[in-house]
Amino acid sequence: IGPEIMRAVLAILDKAGAELDIDTITIGQALYEQGHSSGMAPDTWDALRRTRIFLKAPITTPQGKGVKSLNVTIRKTLSLYANVRPVRSYEPMLASHAKDIDLVIVRENEEDTYGGIEHQQTREVTQCLKLITRPGCERIARYAFAYAQAHGRRKVTCLSKDNIMKRTDGLFHRVFDEVAADYPDIEHEHHIIDIGTALLATAPQRFDVVLAPNLYGDIISDVAAQVAGSVGIAGSANIGEHIAMFEAVHGSAPDIAGMGIANPSGLLHGAIMMLCHIGQPTIAERIHNAWLCTLEAGIHTGDMFSPEHSREKVNTQEFRDAVMARLGDQPKRLQPVHYGESVRIETKAPSASNPTSINKELVGVDVFVDWVGEANTRDPNTLANALQQCETQALKLQMISNRGTKVWPQGMPETFCTDHWRCRFISETPCSAQAIIDLLSALVKQKHEVIKTENLYTFDGQPGFSLGQGQ
Ligand code: NAD
Repeated sequence: IGPEIMRAVLAILDKAGAELDIDTITIGQALYEQGHSSGMAPDTWDALRRTRIFLKAPITTPQGKGVKSLNVTIRKTLSLYANVRPVRSYEPMLASHAKDIDLVIVRENEEDTYGGIEHQQTREVTQCLKLITRPGCERIARYAFAYAQAHGRRKVTCLSKDNIMKRTDGLFHRVFDEVAADYPDIEHEHHIIDIGTALLATAPQRFDVVLAPNLYGDIISDVAAQVAGSVGIAGSANIGEHIAMFEAVHGSAPDIAGMGIANPSGLLHGAIMMLCHIGQPTIAERIHNAWLCTLEAGIHTGDMFSPEHSREKVNTQEFRDAVMARLGDQPKRLQPVHYGESVRIETKAPSASNPTSINKELVGVDVFVDWVGEANTRDPNTLANALQQCETQALKLQMISNRGTKVWPQGMPETFCTDHWRCRFISETPCSAQAIIDLLSALVKQKHEVIKTENLYTFDGQPGFSLGQGQ
Protein backbone atom coordinates (compact mmCIF):
# COMPACT_ATOMS: atom_id res chain seq x y z
CA ILE A 1 0.00 0.00 0.00
CA GLY A 2 3.05 2.27 0.17
CA PRO A 3 2.59 4.01 -3.21
CA GLU A 4 -1.19 4.47 -2.90
CA ILE A 5 -1.14 6.02 0.58
CA MET A 6 1.88 8.17 -0.31
CA ARG A 7 0.03 9.60 -3.33
CA ALA A 8 -2.97 10.47 -1.15
CA VAL A 9 -0.80 12.10 1.53
CA LEU A 10 1.24 14.17 -0.93
CA ALA A 11 -1.99 15.44 -2.52
CA ILE A 12 -3.24 16.59 0.91
CA LEU A 13 0.10 18.27 1.74
CA ASP A 14 0.02 20.09 -1.57
CA LYS A 15 -3.58 21.26 -1.20
CA ALA A 16 -2.90 22.43 2.36
CA GLY A 17 -0.07 24.66 1.13
CA ALA A 18 2.89 22.82 2.64
CA GLU A 19 6.08 24.43 1.41
CA LEU A 20 8.04 21.42 0.26
CA ASP A 21 10.58 20.82 -2.42
CA ILE A 22 10.11 17.11 -2.97
CA ASP A 23 12.79 14.69 -4.11
CA THR A 24 11.27 11.26 -4.86
CA ILE A 25 13.28 8.13 -4.13
CA THR A 26 12.14 4.59 -4.87
CA ILE A 27 13.12 1.98 -2.30
CA GLY A 28 11.76 -1.37 -1.12
CA GLN A 29 10.21 -4.21 -3.07
CA ALA A 30 10.99 -2.94 -6.59
CA LEU A 31 14.65 -2.56 -5.64
CA TYR A 32 14.83 -5.97 -3.95
CA GLU A 33 13.45 -7.43 -7.17
CA GLN A 34 16.15 -5.65 -9.19
CA GLY A 35 18.72 -7.50 -7.11
CA HIS A 36 19.63 -4.82 -4.55
CA SER A 37 19.68 -6.98 -1.40
CA SER A 38 19.56 -3.87 0.80
CA GLY A 39 16.32 -2.72 -0.90
CA MET A 40 17.83 0.53 -2.08
CA ALA A 41 20.16 1.76 -4.82
CA PRO A 42 23.66 2.82 -3.67
CA ASP A 43 23.11 6.53 -4.51
CA THR A 44 20.03 6.69 -2.26
CA TRP A 45 22.15 7.39 0.81
CA ASP A 46 23.50 10.56 -0.83
CA ALA A 47 19.99 11.72 -1.58
CA LEU A 48 18.86 11.09 2.01
CA ARG A 49 21.90 12.85 3.42
CA ARG A 50 21.28 15.83 1.16
CA THR A 51 17.60 16.13 2.05
CA ARG A 52 17.95 15.19 5.73
CA ILE A 53 14.16 15.03 6.17
CA PHE A 54 12.14 12.28 4.61
CA LEU A 55 8.65 10.88 4.60
CA LYS A 56 8.71 7.15 4.00
CA ALA A 57 5.90 4.83 3.02
CA PRO A 58 5.92 1.37 4.61
CA ILE A 59 8.13 -1.17 2.90
CA THR A 60 7.78 -4.92 2.61
CA THR A 61 10.70 -6.89 4.00
CA PRO A 62 10.85 -10.14 1.98
CA GLN A 63 10.84 -12.98 4.52
CA GLY A 64 13.26 -15.87 4.59
CA LYS A 65 15.38 -14.70 1.64
CA GLY A 66 18.34 -13.54 3.68
CA VAL A 67 17.59 -9.87 3.05
CA LYS A 68 17.78 -7.39 5.91
CA SER A 69 14.92 -5.10 6.89
CA LEU A 70 15.42 -1.84 5.03
CA ASN A 71 13.53 0.04 7.73
CA VAL A 72 15.96 -1.14 10.38
CA THR A 73 18.96 -0.48 8.10
CA ILE A 74 17.84 3.11 7.47
CA ARG A 75 17.16 3.83 11.13
CA LYS A 76 20.48 2.40 12.27
CA THR A 77 22.71 3.67 9.48
CA LEU A 78 21.46 7.22 9.91
CA SER A 79 21.36 6.93 13.74
CA LEU A 80 17.67 7.79 13.99
CA TYR A 81 17.80 6.81 17.63
CA ALA A 82 14.38 7.94 18.87
CA ASN A 83 11.18 6.49 17.46
CA VAL A 84 8.32 8.68 18.65
CA ARG A 85 4.80 7.29 18.30
CA PRO A 86 1.85 9.28 19.61
CA VAL A 87 -1.34 7.29 20.14
CA ARG A 88 -4.78 8.87 20.69
CA SER A 89 -8.33 7.61 20.80
CA TYR A 90 -11.10 9.50 19.04
CA GLU A 91 -14.28 8.51 20.81
CA PRO A 92 -17.14 8.95 20.12
CA MET A 93 -16.12 9.23 16.47
CA LEU A 94 -14.13 6.01 16.25
CA ALA A 95 -14.62 2.72 18.01
CA SER A 96 -11.77 2.06 20.40
CA HIS A 97 -11.11 -0.59 23.02
CA ALA A 98 -10.49 2.06 25.70
CA LYS A 99 -11.38 5.72 26.20
CA ASP A 100 -9.27 8.87 26.71
CA ILE A 101 -6.04 7.50 25.30
CA ASP A 102 -3.41 10.16 24.83
CA LEU A 103 0.06 8.73 25.15
CA VAL A 104 3.37 8.81 23.34
CA ILE A 105 5.61 5.80 22.94
CA VAL A 106 9.32 6.58 22.74
CA ARG A 107 10.98 3.47 21.35
CA GLU A 108 14.75 3.02 21.33
CA ASN A 109 15.51 2.56 17.65
CA GLU A 110 19.05 1.26 17.17
CA GLU A 111 19.90 -1.46 19.67
CA ASP A 112 18.53 -4.61 21.29
CA THR A 113 18.00 -7.66 19.06
CA TYR A 114 17.51 -5.38 16.03
CA GLY A 115 21.22 -5.52 15.28
CA GLY A 116 20.11 -8.74 13.60
CA ILE A 117 23.34 -10.45 14.72
CA GLU A 118 22.21 -14.05 14.47
CA HIS A 119 24.04 -17.36 14.14
CA GLN A 120 23.25 -21.00 13.87
CA GLN A 121 25.87 -22.54 16.13
CA THR A 122 24.98 -26.21 16.27
CA ARG A 123 22.56 -28.47 14.43
CA GLU A 124 19.93 -27.64 17.04
CA VAL A 125 20.67 -24.15 18.30
CA THR A 126 20.40 -20.63 16.90
CA GLN A 127 21.11 -17.40 18.71
CA CYS A 128 20.40 -13.68 18.36
CA LEU A 129 22.56 -11.15 20.16
CA LYS A 130 20.78 -8.58 22.27
CA LEU A 131 23.02 -5.54 22.60
CA ILE A 132 22.12 -2.75 25.01
CA THR A 133 24.65 0.02 25.53
CA ARG A 134 24.98 2.68 28.20
CA PRO A 135 25.27 5.58 25.72
CA GLY A 136 22.26 4.23 23.80
CA CYS A 137 20.17 3.98 26.99
CA GLU A 138 21.23 7.42 28.12
CA ARG A 139 20.42 9.06 24.81
CA ILE A 140 16.92 7.57 24.54
CA ALA A 141 16.06 8.14 28.22
CA ARG A 142 17.13 11.79 27.92
CA TYR A 143 15.05 12.11 24.78
CA ALA A 144 11.97 10.71 26.55
CA PHE A 145 12.27 13.13 29.48
CA ALA A 146 13.13 16.11 27.26
CA TYR A 147 10.14 15.25 25.06
CA ALA A 148 7.87 15.07 28.13
CA GLN A 149 9.16 18.42 29.35
CA ALA A 150 8.84 20.14 25.96
CA HIS A 151 5.29 18.86 25.42
CA GLY A 152 3.98 19.50 28.93
CA ARG A 153 3.61 15.83 29.77
CA ARG A 154 3.72 14.80 33.42
CA LYS A 155 5.08 11.26 33.57
CA VAL A 156 7.50 8.88 31.87
CA THR A 157 6.98 5.12 32.29
CA CYS A 158 9.84 2.76 31.47
CA LEU A 159 9.03 -0.82 30.45
CA SER A 160 11.66 -3.57 30.57
CA LYS A 161 12.19 -7.19 31.52
CA ASP A 162 14.98 -6.60 34.01
CA ASN A 163 13.71 -9.28 36.37
CA ILE A 164 15.04 -11.79 33.82
CA MET A 165 17.63 -9.88 31.76
CA LYS A 166 19.43 -8.18 34.61
CA ARG A 167 22.40 -6.98 32.57
CA THR A 168 20.77 -5.75 29.35
CA ASP A 169 17.30 -4.65 30.44
CA GLY A 170 18.76 -3.96 33.88
CA LEU A 171 21.06 -1.35 32.33
CA PHE A 172 18.14 0.20 30.44
CA HIS A 173 16.16 0.54 33.70
CA ARG A 174 19.12 1.76 35.76
CA VAL A 175 20.08 4.48 33.28
CA PHE A 176 16.39 5.52 33.10
CA ASP A 177 16.43 6.05 36.89
CA GLU A 178 19.70 8.00 36.67
CA VAL A 179 18.38 10.30 33.94
CA ALA A 180 15.06 10.74 35.80
CA ALA A 181 16.99 12.40 38.63
CA ASP A 182 17.78 15.28 36.25
CA TYR A 183 14.05 15.86 35.69
CA PRO A 184 12.57 16.18 39.21
CA ASP A 185 9.37 17.81 37.88
CA ILE A 186 8.47 14.79 35.79
CA GLU A 187 7.11 11.72 37.50
CA HIS A 188 8.78 8.46 36.60
CA GLU A 189 7.90 4.80 37.09
CA HIS A 190 8.89 1.39 35.81
CA HIS A 191 6.86 -1.72 35.00
CA ILE A 192 7.93 -5.14 33.85
CA ILE A 193 7.02 -5.31 30.16
CA ASP A 194 4.44 -8.10 30.53
CA ILE A 195 2.21 -6.30 33.04
CA GLY A 196 3.06 -3.01 31.32
CA THR A 197 1.67 -4.30 28.02
CA ALA A 198 -1.41 -5.69 29.77
CA LEU A 199 -2.02 -2.29 31.37
CA LEU A 200 -1.46 -0.55 28.06
CA ALA A 201 -4.14 -2.74 26.51
CA THR A 202 -6.67 -2.42 29.33
CA ALA A 203 -5.97 0.91 31.06
CA PRO A 204 -4.02 3.03 28.57
CA GLN A 205 -5.28 6.24 30.23
CA ARG A 206 -2.79 5.76 33.04
CA PHE A 207 0.16 6.24 30.65
CA ASP A 208 1.63 9.48 29.36
CA VAL A 209 5.11 9.02 27.82
CA VAL A 210 6.15 5.36 27.58
CA LEU A 211 9.82 4.49 27.10
CA ALA A 212 10.84 1.03 25.90
CA PRO A 213 13.78 -0.81 24.32
CA ASN A 214 13.50 -1.53 20.61
CA LEU A 215 11.67 -4.88 20.46
CA TYR A 216 9.13 -4.20 23.22
CA GLY A 217 8.63 -0.69 21.82
CA ASP A 218 7.83 -2.17 18.42
CA ILE A 219 5.24 -4.54 19.87
CA ILE A 220 3.56 -2.11 22.25
CA SER A 221 3.16 0.53 19.51
CA ASP A 222 0.94 -1.81 17.51
CA VAL A 223 -0.91 -2.87 20.68
CA ALA A 224 -1.57 0.74 21.68
CA ALA A 225 -2.54 1.83 18.14
CA GLN A 226 -4.94 -1.06 17.77
CA VAL A 227 -6.48 -0.48 21.23
CA ALA A 228 -7.00 3.18 20.28
CA GLY A 229 -8.89 2.29 17.11
CA SER A 230 -6.71 1.06 14.28
CA VAL A 231 -3.08 0.40 13.49
CA GLY A 232 -3.85 2.36 10.29
CA ILE A 233 -4.02 5.67 12.17
CA ALA A 234 -0.78 6.07 14.10
CA GLY A 235 2.16 8.05 12.73
CA SER A 236 5.76 7.90 13.77
CA ALA A 237 8.87 10.10 13.81
CA ASN A 238 12.36 8.61 13.71
CA ILE A 239 14.61 11.30 15.09
CA GLY A 240 18.38 11.52 14.81
CA GLU A 241 20.80 14.31 15.55
CA HIS A 242 21.16 15.25 11.88
CA ILE A 243 18.40 13.49 9.96
CA ALA A 244 14.76 12.64 10.65
CA MET A 245 12.41 10.19 8.97
CA PHE A 246 8.61 10.22 9.26
CA GLU A 247 6.32 7.30 8.53
CA ALA A 248 3.25 5.34 9.59
CA VAL A 249 3.47 2.83 12.44
CA HIS A 250 1.88 0.09 10.34
CA GLY A 251 3.53 -2.02 7.66
CA SER A 252 2.93 -2.41 3.92
CA ALA A 253 -0.35 -4.35 4.36
CA PRO A 254 0.25 -6.75 1.45
CA ASP A 255 -3.19 -8.29 2.03
CA ILE A 256 -4.91 -5.12 0.75
CA ALA A 257 -2.16 -3.67 -1.47
CA GLY A 258 -3.33 -2.30 -4.82
CA MET A 259 -7.00 -2.42 -3.81
CA GLY A 260 -7.20 1.32 -3.17
CA ILE A 261 -8.84 0.84 0.23
CA ALA A 262 -5.92 1.50 2.61
CA ASN A 263 -6.18 4.18 5.24
CA PRO A 264 -3.67 6.97 4.54
CA SER A 265 -4.06 8.37 8.09
CA GLY A 266 -0.96 6.75 9.61
CA LEU A 267 1.31 8.22 6.94
CA LEU A 268 -0.62 11.51 7.11
CA HIS A 269 0.11 11.69 10.85
CA GLY A 270 3.77 11.02 10.08
CA ALA A 271 3.62 13.94 7.61
CA ILE A 272 1.99 16.17 10.25
CA MET A 273 4.85 15.38 12.64
CA MET A 274 7.28 16.18 9.82
CA LEU A 275 5.66 19.58 9.19
CA CYS A 276 5.97 20.43 12.90
CA HIS A 277 9.59 19.30 12.84
CA ILE A 278 10.53 21.51 9.87
CA GLY A 279 8.79 24.58 11.23
CA GLN A 280 5.45 24.53 9.43
CA PRO A 281 3.14 24.00 12.43
CA THR A 282 0.30 26.09 10.98
CA ILE A 283 -0.01 23.79 7.95
CA ALA A 284 0.31 20.75 10.23
CA GLU A 285 -2.53 22.10 12.35
CA ARG A 286 -4.72 22.80 9.29
CA ILE A 287 -4.30 19.24 8.03
CA HIS A 288 -4.78 17.63 11.43
CA ASN A 289 -7.99 19.56 12.11
CA ALA A 290 -9.34 18.71 8.63
CA TRP A 291 -8.59 15.07 9.41
CA LEU A 292 -10.48 15.33 12.73
CA CYS A 293 -13.44 16.92 10.85
CA THR A 294 -13.42 13.97 8.44
CA LEU A 295 -13.63 11.55 11.36
CA GLU A 296 -16.45 13.62 12.84
CA ALA A 297 -18.33 13.46 9.55
CA GLY A 298 -18.30 9.67 9.90
CA ILE A 299 -16.26 9.26 6.72
CA HIS A 300 -14.07 6.28 7.51
CA THR A 301 -11.90 3.80 5.62
CA GLY A 302 -12.67 0.11 6.14
CA ASP A 303 -10.21 -0.40 9.00
CA MET A 304 -11.88 2.43 10.99
CA PHE A 305 -15.44 1.56 9.99
CA SER A 306 -18.06 0.44 12.47
CA PRO A 307 -21.84 0.68 11.85
CA GLU A 308 -22.26 2.47 15.20
CA HIS A 309 -19.66 5.19 14.64
CA SER A 310 -19.41 5.58 10.87
CA ARG A 311 -21.65 7.12 8.24
CA GLU A 312 -19.82 6.21 5.06
CA LYS A 313 -17.18 3.58 4.25
CA VAL A 314 -14.74 5.14 1.77
CA ASN A 315 -11.66 4.15 -0.18
CA THR A 316 -8.26 5.84 -0.05
CA GLN A 317 -9.04 8.49 -2.66
CA GLU A 318 -12.44 9.33 -1.23
CA PHE A 319 -10.90 9.70 2.21
CA ARG A 320 -8.17 11.95 0.75
CA ASP A 321 -10.82 14.10 -0.95
CA ALA A 322 -12.86 14.32 2.25
CA VAL A 323 -9.81 15.61 4.17
CA MET A 324 -8.94 18.09 1.41
CA ALA A 325 -12.51 19.40 1.34
CA ARG A 326 -12.29 20.17 5.08
CA LEU A 327 -8.99 22.08 5.09
CA GLY A 328 -9.61 25.23 7.13
CA ASP A 329 -12.47 23.70 9.17
CA GLN A 330 -12.36 23.18 12.94
CA PRO A 331 -13.74 20.03 14.56
CA LYS A 332 -16.79 20.59 16.79
CA ARG A 333 -16.92 17.51 18.99
CA LEU A 334 -13.31 16.40 18.98
CA GLN A 335 -10.75 18.72 20.54
CA PRO A 336 -9.09 20.79 17.77
CA VAL A 337 -5.30 20.57 17.74
CA HIS A 338 -3.11 23.57 18.15
CA TYR A 339 0.56 23.40 17.27
CA GLY A 340 2.48 26.37 18.62
CA GLU A 341 6.01 27.15 17.59
CA SER A 342 7.96 24.05 16.58
CA VAL A 343 9.53 22.39 19.60
CA ARG A 344 13.13 21.32 19.12
CA ILE A 345 14.23 18.65 21.51
CA GLU A 346 17.88 19.04 22.30
CA THR A 347 19.49 16.26 24.25
CA LYS A 348 23.06 16.19 25.43
CA ALA A 349 25.30 13.77 23.55
CA PRO A 350 25.65 10.62 25.66
CA SER A 351 28.64 10.71 27.96
CA ALA A 352 31.55 8.60 26.73
CA SER A 353 32.91 6.35 29.44
CA ASN A 354 36.40 6.98 30.69
CA PRO A 355 38.36 3.72 30.24
CA THR A 356 40.50 4.38 33.30
CA SER A 357 37.61 5.08 35.68
CA ILE A 358 36.33 1.50 35.82
CA ASN A 359 38.63 -1.39 36.70
CA LYS A 360 37.98 -4.25 34.25
CA GLU A 361 39.56 -7.63 35.00
CA LEU A 362 39.49 -10.92 33.11
CA VAL A 363 38.51 -13.73 35.48
CA GLY A 364 37.47 -16.62 33.24
CA VAL A 365 35.76 -17.74 30.08
CA ASP A 366 32.53 -19.36 28.99
CA VAL A 367 33.41 -21.89 26.30
CA PHE A 368 30.45 -23.03 24.23
CA VAL A 369 30.81 -26.51 22.76
CA ASP A 370 28.78 -28.57 20.30
CA TRP A 371 28.55 -32.00 21.90
CA VAL A 372 26.17 -34.97 22.14
CA GLY A 373 28.51 -37.67 23.49
CA GLU A 374 28.89 -41.30 22.49
CA ALA A 375 25.60 -42.71 21.18
CA ASN A 376 23.95 -39.32 21.64
CA THR A 377 23.59 -39.81 25.40
CA ARG A 378 24.24 -36.14 26.26
CA ASP A 379 25.27 -36.92 29.82
CA PRO A 380 26.71 -33.73 31.38
CA ASN A 381 28.90 -35.76 33.78
CA THR A 382 30.67 -37.38 30.83
CA LEU A 383 31.26 -33.96 29.26
CA ALA A 384 32.50 -32.54 32.56
CA ASN A 385 35.01 -35.40 33.01
CA ALA A 386 36.38 -34.83 29.52
CA LEU A 387 36.61 -31.06 30.01
CA GLN A 388 38.36 -31.40 33.35
CA GLN A 389 41.16 -33.22 31.54
CA CYS A 390 41.80 -29.93 29.74
CA GLU A 391 41.86 -27.64 32.80
CA THR A 392 44.97 -25.49 33.04
CA GLN A 393 46.88 -24.07 35.98
CA ALA A 394 44.79 -20.92 35.77
CA LEU A 395 41.36 -22.02 34.59
CA LYS A 396 39.18 -24.66 36.25
CA LEU A 397 35.78 -25.91 35.17
CA GLN A 398 33.17 -24.38 37.46
CA MET A 399 29.83 -25.07 35.82
CA ILE A 400 28.13 -26.39 32.70
CA SER A 401 24.75 -25.11 31.59
CA ASN A 402 22.48 -26.04 28.73
CA ARG A 403 20.19 -23.30 27.40
CA GLY A 404 21.18 -21.30 30.48
CA THR A 405 20.22 -23.96 33.05
CA LYS A 406 22.93 -25.48 35.21
CA VAL A 407 23.35 -29.18 34.42
CA TRP A 408 26.71 -29.76 36.13
CA PRO A 409 27.63 -30.08 38.96
CA GLN A 410 24.48 -31.55 40.45
CA GLY A 411 22.10 -31.18 37.53
CA MET A 412 18.63 -32.67 37.43
CA PRO A 413 17.91 -35.67 35.20
CA GLU A 414 14.68 -33.99 34.01
CA THR A 415 16.48 -31.02 32.36
CA PHE A 416 16.27 -31.34 28.59
CA CYS A 417 19.66 -30.96 26.96
CA THR A 418 20.37 -29.77 23.43
CA ASP A 419 23.71 -30.12 21.64
CA HIS A 420 24.86 -26.67 22.88
CA TRP A 421 26.78 -26.49 26.18
CA ARG A 422 28.14 -23.47 28.01
CA CYS A 423 31.19 -24.56 29.98
CA ARG A 424 32.37 -21.99 32.50
CA PHE A 425 36.06 -21.94 33.39
CA ILE A 426 37.01 -19.63 36.23
CA SER A 427 40.32 -18.37 37.53
CA GLU A 428 40.79 -17.65 41.23
CA THR A 429 42.75 -14.50 40.48
CA PRO A 430 42.61 -12.27 37.36
CA CYS A 431 44.05 -14.18 34.40
CA SER A 432 45.68 -13.28 31.12
CA ALA A 433 44.28 -13.58 27.60
CA GLN A 434 47.05 -16.13 27.02
CA ALA A 435 45.55 -18.32 29.78
CA ILE A 436 42.36 -18.53 27.73
CA ILE A 437 44.24 -19.34 24.56
CA ASP A 438 46.09 -22.11 26.44
CA LEU A 439 42.78 -23.55 27.62
CA LEU A 440 41.31 -23.40 24.09
CA SER A 441 44.40 -25.13 22.69
CA ALA A 442 43.98 -27.93 25.21
CA LEU A 443 40.27 -28.27 24.37
CA VAL A 444 40.87 -28.35 20.62
CA LYS A 445 43.67 -30.90 21.07
CA GLN A 446 41.20 -33.15 22.87
CA LYS A 447 38.78 -32.76 19.90
CA HIS A 448 36.17 -30.67 21.68
CA GLU A 449 34.17 -28.66 19.14
CA VAL A 450 34.39 -25.12 20.47
CA ILE A 451 31.75 -22.97 18.75
CA LYS A 452 32.30 -19.73 20.59
CA THR A 453 33.79 -18.18 23.70
CA GLU A 454 32.69 -15.34 25.90
CA ASN A 455 35.27 -13.76 28.18
CA LEU A 456 34.21 -13.25 31.78
CA TYR A 457 35.11 -9.91 33.32
CA THR A 458 34.59 -8.14 36.59
CA PHE A 459 34.02 -4.39 36.59
CA ASP A 460 35.24 -2.72 39.80
CA GLY A 461 35.13 -6.18 41.35
CA GLN A 462 31.52 -6.89 40.34
CA PRO A 463 30.91 -9.81 37.96
CA GLY A 464 29.80 -8.71 34.50
CA PHE A 465 28.14 -12.03 33.70
CA SER A 466 25.04 -13.89 34.79
CA LEU A 467 24.95 -17.08 36.84
CA GLY A 468 23.51 -20.27 35.37
CA GLN A 469 19.88 -20.89 36.32
CA GLY A 470 20.09 -23.04 39.43
CA GLN A 471 23.74 -22.10 40.08
P1 NAD B 1 0.87 -4.54 8.57
O1 NAD B 1 0.88 -3.40 9.53
O2 NAD B 1 1.32 -4.25 7.19
O3 NAD B 1 -0.60 -5.14 8.48
C1 NAD B 1 -1.29 -5.66 9.62
C2 NAD B 1 -2.81 -5.61 9.36
O4 NAD B 1 -3.24 -4.23 9.43
C3 NAD B 1 -3.20 -6.11 7.97
O5 NAD B 1 -4.44 -6.77 8.07
C4 NAD B 1 -3.36 -4.84 7.15
O6 NAD B 1 -4.27 -4.94 6.09
C5 NAD B 1 -3.84 -3.84 8.21
N1 NAD B 1 -3.39 -2.48 7.89
C6 NAD B 1 -2.13 -2.00 8.05
N2 NAD B 1 -2.07 -0.75 7.63
C7 NAD B 1 -3.29 -0.42 7.17
C8 NAD B 1 -3.84 0.74 6.58
N3 NAD B 1 -3.12 1.85 6.39
N4 NAD B 1 -5.14 0.71 6.21
C9 NAD B 1 -5.89 -0.38 6.42
N5 NAD B 1 -5.44 -1.51 6.96
C10 NAD B 1 -4.14 -1.53 7.33
O7 NAD B 1 1.75 -5.69 9.23
P2 NAD B 1 2.32 -7.04 8.60
O8 NAD B 1 1.30 -7.66 7.71
O9 NAD B 1 2.83 -7.78 9.75
O10 NAD B 1 3.57 -6.61 7.73
C11 NAD B 1 3.57 -6.49 6.32
C12 NAD B 1 4.93 -6.07 5.81
O11 NAD B 1 5.21 -4.75 6.29
C13 NAD B 1 6.09 -6.94 6.27
O12 NAD B 1 6.94 -7.14 5.16
C14 NAD B 1 6.78 -6.12 7.32
O13 NAD B 1 8.16 -6.40 7.39
C15 NAD B 1 6.54 -4.72 6.80
N6 NAD B 1 6.57 -3.66 7.84
C16 NAD B 1 7.08 -2.48 7.46
C17 NAD B 1 7.09 -1.42 8.36
C18 NAD B 1 7.66 -0.11 7.93
O14 NAD B 1 7.89 0.10 6.76
N7 NAD B 1 7.93 0.79 8.85
C19 NAD B 1 6.55 -1.59 9.65
C20 NAD B 1 5.98 -2.82 9.99
C21 NAD B 1 6.00 -3.86 9.07
